[in-house]
Amino acid sequence: MRGEPNENGAVVVAGTTVLAVGDFQKIKRDFLVNDFEIVDLGDGLIVPGWVNAHTHLEFSDIEKPLGFPGIKFTDWIRKIVQRRFQANSQESNTDSASSKSHAIESGLQESIQAGTRAIGEIATAPFDINDYTRLKAPIVTRCFLEQLGRDQAHYPHQESELTSFLSQNQPSHQTFKRGASPHAPYSVSDLLFNQIQTISRSAATPVAMHVAETVEERDLLESASGDFVDLLKEFGSWNPADYTGEMNILSILKRLAEAKHALVVHGNYLNEQELDLIASHPEKMSIAFCPRTHRFFKHAEYPLQKMLDRKLNICLGTDSRASNPDLNLFKEAQEVASSFPNLSPDTILEMATINGSRALGLPASIGTISADHHASLNFISHPEIPPPIRPTDWMFDEASQCKPVFKVESTI
Ligand SMILES: [Zn+2]
Repeated sequence: MRGEPNENGAVVVAGTTVLAVGDFQKIKRDFLVNDFEIVDLGDGLIVPGWVNAHTHLEFSDIEKPLGFPGIKFTDWIRKIVQRRFQANSQESNTDSASSKSHAIESGLQESIQAGTRAIGEIATAPFDINDYTRLKAPIVTRCFLEQLGRDQAHYPHQESELTSFLSQNQPSHQTFKRGASPHAPYSVSDLLFNQIQTISRSAATPVAMHVAETVEERDLLESASGDFVDLLKEFGSWNPADYTGEMNILSILKRLAEAKHALVVHGNYLNEQELDLIASHPEKMSIAFCPRTHRFFKHAEYPLQKMLDRKLNICLGTDSRASNPDLNLFKEAQEVASSFPNLSPDTILEMATINGSRALGLPASIGTISADHHASLNFISHPEIPPPIRPTDWMFDEASQCKPVFKVESTI
């Protein structure tokens, strides 16, 4: 991640920590005197653990995406709301451990097995940190507490909930870090959005928000029309006076730019002006692209090239199992490679690792292979390594396979 690949390279690992990385012959001279065991992984690529910048682990027990490919987004939202309602009522009828805790745990397990080093998680209340730390897994979570509500009377506790969540932030905690997530422009009132901004600014924590995910979101914000009107009516939160055009995507982005780090999730339909605004805050603003979820909803072509032209920090996310069959970030990278064949695999590798780490406000040791840091490594192989093209050129081929190098039980 910090230069050209090391051909015939080696990584020295003691316990779960990287001691050195570099040329195999040099490493052999420096370390073999200490009785290090040599493990030859064969022909392939050693890359850093993945950073999955956007997911919702509470849906990790869903077997297949809700609805069908090309489902109308608002119909999918109806299915999500219905599922959450059913889960809540089931829970209140049983004494069994919370199904949400189980789903989160199984999502973490799945992520680790897929070679994920860090995740950008959207959590909902009631929140229990043990759901994330119980496994003592070698995975770092930036947990954004989701906030939604168009009508303060229905959601009176959001402000105090977030304040209390962020007040427990311990930036030095190795594996668990906090942030805030105003859900989306169609589900958050102006008032709540302001409150979230103020609270997260004073706590100096990152913010993540779903923005410009659908065309209908723009219809709602700019002309108080489209599919979201019916949805909001159904939920009893329709108030045409809220949609004067003042709270539009550009104004939302301007406000997100005030956060310590702002992660714009999806951004499928951002226009030139909005992309320029993000580009004018390169240190703070990032975009999470969720390629297979994008395909599931059959959105228009992702404006990836326009983002790359503006040098935006683009990272990858799986989103949840409610719109994706699994939580495997390597498959997202393969999806990008097949949808954008002219894109360099090196760029995709950055999107899948270090860019995510930057977007989530995590140390640069996450998303790179660095001495003195956790040995979260993946090995990519190919059943038939093509003749001498540059080794990384086949990295995200459809036939390539990725496996974590170490056993998943290792703890930090
Ligand atoms: Zn999402």
